[in-house]
Amino acid sequence: MSLLITCPICGKRNGYEFKFGGEDRGPKPNEDELTSRKWCEYTHMNTNIGGIQKEWWYHRDGCNTWFTIYRNTLTNEEVQNHKEVAP
Ligand SMILES: [Zn+2]
Repeated sequence: MSLLITCPICGKRNGYEFKFGGEDRGPKPNEDELTSRKWCEYTHMNTNIGGIQKEWWYHRDGCNTWFTIYRNTLTNEEVQNHKEVAP
């Protein structure tokens, strides 16, 4: 199943034009409270959500821009107008 991704500059394109950048982990941890364990968890641990997740993509065969989208990992479809729910 092919993935269509909406680049904010170029519009909807074939997923083969993009490089996956991983799930969005939110802002970097506060450096004042940072431990090596917190940094390791932030940089290496994935939640691997079965459902809608926010992720980074790079348009390598287009405008060379990094951006985020919401994708349903179960159907491999981009989710438009997804509203984040606070944890
Ligand atoms: Zn683009």
